[in-house]
Amino acid sequence: MGMSPVCARITASRLRLRYFALLALCLLLVAVAGPSAPGQAAANGPLLHLRGGSFDPLLDAPALPTALSDEPQLYLVQFVGPVHADWKVAVAQAGAQLYDYIPDYAFLARMDRVAAQRVQALAPVRWVGIYQPAYRLEAALRAPTLQAGQQLTLTVETLPAADLDALAAQIASLGGHVQHRAHNTLAGYLRVVLPAAALPPLASHTAVRWLESYHPPTVQNDVGGGQIMQAGRVWRDVGLYGSGQVVAVADTGLDTGDPDTLHPDIRGRLLQAYALGRPGDWSDLGMPRISGHGTHVAGSVLGNGALSGGVSDTFVYGGTYAGVAPAASLVFQSIGDSGGGLGGIPADYADLMRQAYQDGARIHSNSWGGLTGGANNPYGAYTTASRQVDQAMWEHPDMLVLYTAGNQGTDADRDGVIDRDSILSPGTAKNILTVGASETVRPEIRTGYTSDRRGLLYTRPVFLDRMTDNADGMAAFSSRGPTDDGRIKPDVVAPGTYIVSLRAGDNDGWSTLGEAELAEAGGPLDTAYVLQGGTSMAAALTAGGAALVREWLTRVQDIAAPSGALIKAVLINGAAQMAPGQYGTEQQQEIPTSQPNPVSGWGRVDLAASLGLDDTRTIWLRDNLTGLATGATATYTLTVAQLPTLQAAEPLRVTLAWTDYPAAAVAGRALVNDLDLEIIAPTGQRYTGNQAAAISSECVRAGGWDACNNVEGIVIDPAPAGDYSLRVHAYNVPQNERQPFALVAAWSATSQIPLKSLYLPLIVR
Ligand code: CA
Repeated sequence: MGMSPVCARITASRLRLRYFALLALCLLLVAVAGPSAPGQAAANGPLLHLRGGSFDPLLDAPALPTALSDEPQLYLVQFVGPVHADWKVAVAQAGAQLYDYIPDYAFLARMDRVAAQRVQALAPVRWVGIYQPAYRLEAALRAPTLQAGQQLTLTVETLPAADLDALAAQIASLGGHVQHRAHNTLAGYLRVVLPAAALPPLASHTAVRWLESYHPPTVQNDVGGGQIMQAGRVWRDVGLYGSGQVVAVADTGLDTGDPDTLHPDIRGRLLQAYALGRPGDWSDLGMPRISGHGTHVAGSVLGNGALSGGVSDTFVYGGTYAGVAPAASLVFQSIGDSGGGLGGIPADYADLMRQAYQDGARIHSNSWGGLTGGANNPYGAYTTASRQVDQAMWEHPDMLVLYTAGNQGTDADRDGVIDRDSILSPGTAKNILTVGASETVRPEIRTGYTSDRRGLLYTRPVFLDRMTDNADGMAAFSSRGPTDDGRIKPDVVAPGTYIVSLRAGDNDGWSTLGEAELAEAGGPLDTAYVLQGGTSMAAALTAGGAALVREWLTRVQDIAAPSGALIKAVLINGAAQMAPGQYGTEQQQEIPTSQPNPVSGWGRVDLAASLGLDDTRTIWLRDNLTGLATGATATYTLTVAQLPTLQAAEPLRVTLAWTDYPAAAVAGRALVNDLDLEIIAPTGQRYTGNQAAAISSECVRAGGWDACNNVEGIVIDPAPAGDYSLRVHAYNVPQNERQPFALVAAWSATSQIPLKSLYLPLIVR
């Protein structure tokens, strides 16, 4: 990776506007010369993975500026291998302050030149180099086509101690202005509008860590079950309805915006509402294009069907239009603005989760997302927003945050297969549960993907498919993974076509119940409910499912404050395989047979399987909050019995999930703390996490270990009787010294607790 001395001098010094064109050229050179094909230099040593590309800094380091006018201050420090805590202490003692982890084995560090020399001399330090201004710009901001006067909306990320007032003043002097600002323990954030000419001086500002285009998110019903998810069995068999659970929904608005006149299906269970997008108004009315969305998703989470026959006093919800957790409570954050956008989203997305956490919410549901980059690569990137929502879960490990995958699934090359790589941000985040959409089953509705309001996006066989005819099929529009750094997303899918939920005002959704002939037009059911579709609805239904899982963990499993990672692992470990899907064979098969895969993730949410409601299955779980340091291993033994009642051995399924430290936006890979799952079967056969997954070779370390995902799974099918050794290895834990994790296993056992008789509904008034 070569940067000419001229470029280096320009980028490292305070720039005047007339250098802009030259700098753009320099940045382009870095961009072009920087990325080497991943893996090329792997044999020579650890690479540095930046968003712009991967390289071995010892072989291919950018030329260091020799005539700096300013002290560089920000450096990259790479260690020789998996990071040990005492190495970080030694670097700190040499005068460096460490910030973000950058794979492999490197950190962003603030120090002076003398300290940099001391750090370079430490034995475990492999390489020290300047954190070049060019590294701080996402690819779209390095494009040579940018014009100096072009107005850009950006997210500016600073070091946590940065003086945001001073930076805002400097941005104003460069012709820009600040729209939103926020500050947390790891970073400062400004959302700004400024001319492109301001990029070079901002990129070389000592406090600026990262610059990225801001793409405003949109609600994800734009193309436009309890039964399929098995919520009904959880209600009936275990008596869990979401009682005592608080779910937060951040969305457009909520029905009338008045607690006294809210839709009867949610009235009385709203704990708190916030008007973040329109002063004093959190209603779901009067916003162009988006009104009605927030009410519909809130109903999917926890509506109780009061206007369709539900009786909450006696827990009668079956056969009604109730949501999945009909006894849960709601915190609502209205982010819709009067222009039909989502202008209430704060500069730090995590502020949404922090606010709701204070109100007791432990599930946070979000049915919206935005592009992750410019026209050349609009999807799949780990953005600043992704980092922020990952940080929200890192700060609050007993909260689970859910986001939609997005509705961007298309078949642009018209080969009959929905294209990969269309996940929105922050659905690209790693700690959260990212939800795609499968089909619901409503034979009475005959609409196909041909009538998609965006036009003829699909060819055969998608073109011929109906949207509501197969629970094991994907909604064609559901965004596909993987992420740009090779992680599996979505995590799970849930029904997202023609979902009935609450109607706000005269919102028509995809269809009214009257139009669909499900109710009398203009009658009470028609005015109370509406049909809507998208990954928005899938995420909301899954959030309701997460509330049921959390209630099961707290009341049946007696875990007082289950981690978000444990709820996620329980949902994933029971998810139903959907392959092969509805159409296609071999390369054209709708849903790959590999598990997980970037189409349906780990599969379709199945609450009955997740909670082991079938007679012969047992669920074993560990919420390890202490965690593991680099090099440590946790070992568990499971005994699988051969059941006399079963004809053949049944599968053993194990899922490991952990809430990882938030990644740097500049990092080319989002994984920070890398754990590995391993099982040794009674036969001596060895299995590694995700070895059956459709993941790229760059995500596999020597030995067959997954190096990208923070969810790892193993299915042994059939699993012969005997003792299985489950091992969780901490390969590299560069942040926080120890990495907590959740581990869930399901297999056949000889006895099952009669859950139904033991657990009566918790009545909360
Ligand atoms: Ca791993």
